[in-house]
Amino acid sequence: MKRALVCGAGGFIGGHLVKKLKREGYWVRGVDIKHHEFAPTQADEFLLLDLRQPEHCKQALTAPDGGAFDEVYQLAADMGGMGFISVAECEVLRNNALINIHMAHTAAQMGTPRYFFSSSVCIYRDMEPDEPPLTEEDAYPAQPDNEYGWEKLYAERVATAYGRHYSMQVRIARFENSYGPEGTWRGGREKAPAAICRKVAEADDGDSIEVWGDGTAIRVFTYVDDLVDGIYALMHSDLEGPVNLGSDERVTIAELVQTVIDVSGKDLRIKYVPGPIGVHARNFSKARIKSLGWEAKIPLREGIARTYAWIEAQVNATREG
Ligand code: NAD
Repeated sequence: MKRALVCGAGGFIGGHLVKKLKREGYWVRGVDIKHHEFAPTQADEFLLLDLRQPEHCKQALTAPDGGAFDEVYQLAADMGGMGFISVAECEVLRNNALINIHMAHTAAQMGTPRYFFSSSVCIYRDMEPDEPPLTEEDAYPAQPDNEYGWEKLYAERVATAYGRHYSMQVRIARFENSYGPEGTWRGGREKAPAAICRKVAEADDGDSIEVWGDGTAIRVFTYVDDLVDGIYALMHSDLEGPVNLGSDERVTIAELVQTVIDVSGKDLRIKYVPGPIGVHARNFSKARIKSLGWEAKIPLREGIARTYAWIEAQVNATREG
């Protein structure tokens, strides 16, 4: 039986990735600095560790027989939506660099054969709404919009260098925004789809909901089941170098908000207010990941319907509690 380590297993994507690996028949160890907030872990073993510390990385990376894991998925990060990463710049830079340096170094030294790193399309520069898609190589010359993106770019280079100098196959995906049930939906770290679902779920017919920006920013939102299928396909491929991973459905924030409102069946007004909105537009080539036969299967409306139902239930449970 293959053994996999998922770092960040107490988080949104890591939690879903554990489920995917269990479906594929793996023995899975999950590691995180905290337990999952919304669902019991499906991992065979779950360790609470702080991966900023090298000795905790070693403990995480040592399989039960004392050897290395067959596959290591590094998703642990101090992160959140724009509201969080625009204010917590020092924490994001320090904590994530420490995690990624110690994880790549220790994994390589321990002889880990395959290492996955979760990067982000935040490593790219801002774009004009009508620009043609950027390919993975267009990350350079680099001009990420925020410090979270700069650290991801640096961490890509760290993992890649260890792959060059050790016998460790490195796979890197640059995720576009992911959303779905069992992700952070309140507290300041939530991302746009979850925040909008929460605001709509809390509103009554006739209310207004506040949305940051002016609604024109363009994004791609990828349902989490599609994302973890893509991670798995990439990890088991020969594709070296960073790979963009996301759906083809580009929408404005206004379209995202309207989709959530439509799904809710409520009659609501939208009030745009100043806030941290990030880049204006995103458009990335998916040719590399599609060369593996992967493509996103869940349309935005269907993914939002599933996510809204889960967040509405959380909101209602909180009210009743
Ligand atoms: P998340 O915040 O839900 O999960 C990250 C997990 O890392 C959390 O559970 C957190 O507790 C854990 N963590 C933080 N510091 C740690 C430490 N010192 N030691 C151990 N664990 C620690 O985020 P997510 O949305 O599941 O994202 C997973 C990965 O994907 C992250 O690396 C993130 O940067 C990347 N990513 C996510 C998105 C997205 O849309 N969600 C987009 C691009 C990239």
